Amino acid sequence: MSLATLLNDNQDSPALAPHDRARLSQLFKRLSERTEMFLGYPVAKDFACQDLSHFLSLPLNNLGDPFAPSTYQVDTREFEREVLEFAARLLRAEEHNWWGYVTNGGSEGNLYGLYLARELFPKAMVYFSEATHYSVSKNLHLLGMPHIMIRAQKSGEIDYEDLRETLRLHRDQVPILFANIGTTMTEGMDDLVKVRQIFKEMAIAESYIHCDAALCGFIAPFLNPRPAFDFADGADRISISGHKFIGSPIPCGLVLAKKRHVERIARSIAYIGNLDTTISGSRNGLTPLILWTAIRRLGEEGFRERVQLSLSLADYACRSLREIGVDAWRNPNALTVVFPSPSAKVRSKWQLASAEGASHLLTLPNVTREQIDHFVADVAAGH
Ligand SMILES: *Cc1c(COP(=O)(O)O)cnc(C)c1O
Repeated sequence: MSLATLLNDNQDSPALAPHDRARLSQLFKRLSERTEMFLGYPVAKDFACQDLSHFLSLPLNNLGDPFAPSTYQVDTREFEREVLEFAARLLRAEEHNWWGYVTNGGSEGNLYGLYLARELFPKAMVYFSEATHYSVSKNLHLLGMPHIMIRAQKSGEIDYEDLRETLRLHRDQVPILFANIGTTMTEGMDDLVKVRQIFKEMAIAESYIHCDAALCGFIAPFLNPRPAFDFADGADRISISGHKFIGSPIPCGLVLAKKRHVERIARSIAYIGNLDTTISGSRNGLTPLILWTAIRRLGEEGFRERVQLSLSLADYACRSLREIGVDAWRNPNALTVVFPSPSAKVRSKWQLASAEGASHLLTLPNVTREQIDHFVADVAAGH
């Protein structure tokens, strides 16, 4: 069947009534306007869908494990595997010793990382810093895992002394560290080399590190110096969002793990008569294509340029705010600029996330200098 026939067939379905169509037009106009005033969330808005929109007419479903054969053949799992291969190379996973899948978002990857950790070490204790994303407490509650919150430094990075002291009190339990590779408010990063060193000093034989790299998974590999955050640095599992730095218009993400961990869990499930390696049954077949398209368009060099552009915008935003007397700051090589919260009106106009008197803006590649100038002028005018 040709593409034209497919699209024509779809036009045989009942038409939308004119007033319903008008409502959709109004919604589209309002959302387009709100997209222009968007500095507070780490979401790129520059993904172009032109190569993919016709796939919406197909019942795509990437049911089950991306690496296992399936009878459901309207799938994009071949492309999903290529996306995972790209990420595995970037995150220095050991060849032939990794596994992963495209998730519905960073939170699902984090949930899965903790689930896997619990299956491997049922009696373990989870440690995470107070700067950790809010979804993690909920996930730990869902999984019924004991956990301890560790202090964070002002940068958002974990307080290693507090971690060391707390570990000392729980030497009988395997530690699971939920590490942040870019915290939500300040983009602080925990250093896996320092964490592994602490484990070593304390003669901890078994441990597990999950990295929440929702924003920075596709940024950190291109930073200089390269942060200690990936498989070669000691991560056991990494979760990344696909709608943040890459800017998928549909929320998604990906998760990668060491293969032998997943094999252990798959075996334990096989024992009860099922081999099921992902959290959802039906899985989105469109989002792997979106990620694949972005990766093919950019290539590693394109990602590197995207990171450089974002960093120079962050530097520009930080300097511009400081020039009008705002006490703005950013972590080294961060896209996140933190400053005392401006008026409620400015926060709402620019959709700024705020906590404890601080707000932040993020300069993803679609942000322009004009938008930053406009925002800084609003802050200076106090409205
Ligand atoms: C955005 C974010 C998440 C959640 O990711 P989703 O893709 O929105 O589910 C988790 N952790 C951090 C640090 C984040 O910034």
